[in-house]
Parts: sequence; C-alpha cells; structure tokens
Amino acid sequence: MSKLLPLVALSAAVSLLSGCATVAPPAGPRIDTSLSSRGQSERIKYIILHYTVSDLPRSIKILTQQDVSAHYLLTDTDQPFFYALVDEARQSNHAGLSSWKIYNQLNAASIGIEIVNPGFTETPQGRVYAPFKQAQIDQLILLLKQLVARYNIKPENILGHNDIAPQRKQDPGPLFPWKQLADAGLVAWPEPSRVAARLPIYTEQLPDVAWFQRKLAQVGYATPQTGELDLATRNVLVVFQSKYRQSLYDGTPDAETAALLDVLTSPVPQLAPPAVPMPAPVPLPLAASTPALPRSTASPRHDHP
Ligand SMILES: [Zn+2]
Repeated sequence: MSKLLPLVALSAAVSLLSGCATVAPPAGPRIDTSLSSRGQSERIKYIILHYTVSDLPRSIKILTQQDVSAHYLLTDTDQPFFYALVDEARQSNHAGLSSWKIYNQLNAASIGIEIVNPGFTETPQGRVYAPFKQAQIDQLILLLKQLVARYNIKPENILGHNDIAPQRKQDPGPLFPWKQLADAGLVAWPEPSRVAARLPIYTEQLPDVAWFQRKLAQVGYATPQTGELDLATRNVLVVFQSKYRQSLYDGTPDAETAALLDVLTSPVPQLAPPAVPMPAPVPLPLAASTPALPRSTASPRHDHP
C-alpha cells in the first residue's frame, strides 16, 4: 500500500505543474431547477392488456426469468392479486413490434399488465377462448383506475395487445370484458343509440373496403390502405370486432361494424340525425378522398422534434 504514495504525490505535482486545477473536481454539471417547461407530460401514455396463455407458475417463471416481462401480473388465484414485476418508472418488454396511431414501439410509453388466462384452444368447432374470472376483472379495474389517475391516461389509450399488433396477437381476446371497463369509465365506447341510428344507413349501403380501412386507421389500428379485403385487413377487423362486437368477430366488413366505426370516429357526439349524405361543395370530395390516416387524430401537436 505505502508503495503507492510516492506515485500519487508525483501525479499531483504533475497536475499542478501543468496548470490543471484538480484540487476539487466538480461533482457534476451545474443545474438550476428553478424554471420549468410548460410543454411536458407523463412518459406513460398507454396501458396494454395481455393474457399469459400460461398458468400462474409458468407465467411467473417466464416473466421473471426471460426477456419478456410486464409491469404487473394478475393472478388467477381465488383472490386474485398483482405481482409488481417491473417498476412503473422502468420499461418492461411486453408489447414487441407494435403501433397505435402515429406511435410505434409502445413498450417505451406504456404499462404492461399480464392477466393469467390460458387464451384459446383449437377445437373441431374452431377456437374456444377461456373466460376471465370476474374477480380478476374487479382487481384489474381497481389498478386501472389508479394508473389512469397517476398518469392521466386517456380512455382511448387503454388497449389490448391485439389492438397494437393485430397481425400477430389475439390477446386479451374476444372474451375480455371491455364493456365492463367502459362502464367503469376507463375506455371509450361507441354510444349504442348512436350506433343504432347509423345502422340502417349502412344496412342500406355498405361502404367499400377502402372506407373500412380508413376508419380502422382513424381509430388507431395499423391498417393497409389497399382498397382490398386482404388477410391483413381482415385481421384488423377481427381485432376490432372482438372488442366492440364480441358476438361475431369473423373479420367480415358488415353494417354493424361500419356503424361502430362511424360512431367511434365521429369527434362530436351528436344527438340528432346521423351522417346525412353530404351536400358537398366542390372541394369536399377531394378532402374525403385524401388518405384519412391517423395523423390528424393523434396528439396533433408537440409530437415532432
Ligand atoms: Zn400479449
């Protein structure tokens, strides 16, 4: 030990000689915290809901020992509870390749909640999904209310994994009770009377595929804008229907789906007559045919450098 001393002394002498005032090196940059920007918000903007496909022990193993993770894991025990696996201030790896409106890679801005549920099994009659326990949903609603309050999360930003990755994911699936979340004031829901009012219009004439694609994109889904009812578009329709019309989610564009989309994308709730065919001045057809992509609906300001 003592052999080092001369070396230290020598280097101090060299520093002095070379003019570096190393006597009291600053601990860090000088920062004044007395001012604050007006333009700021919480980093957490989304909550993404999943089912685990695995039972509880296996879910715990996967979510604690592998790269995939979630902030919360909701058990399916008699009295369901949450494991808090990742601190909310930190990112968890639950969303994967994902997008909603103009946002990609939602891991960076979301809280991920995994709910223990086996998902679906393939049977000769088709896929059969497993229901969630009501006690799980009750717990989930309690946590969601806290998170919404903590981060000021908008109702349209509480989403399923399938919403943000419709080509890859089914969870939380068509048995997830979105309507209960809507009744709890947590997610946006198309007002049934407005849907009913629009239904006859779309029953009379079903919009073309391009219309459905535009509307799905306007809601937030990454949707091809091809004008063709291709597999990717059907996948998005399945996801939309399995949320808002859980009795039938076959991916077929139909009048009720059109009415639901119309109401969800109509900005101002209007009590009176729905969507009367437009008495359009000249420029309107042009405006209507421009790609009505999500740009206009999602967080219009402050989202670019
Ligand atoms: Zn998932």
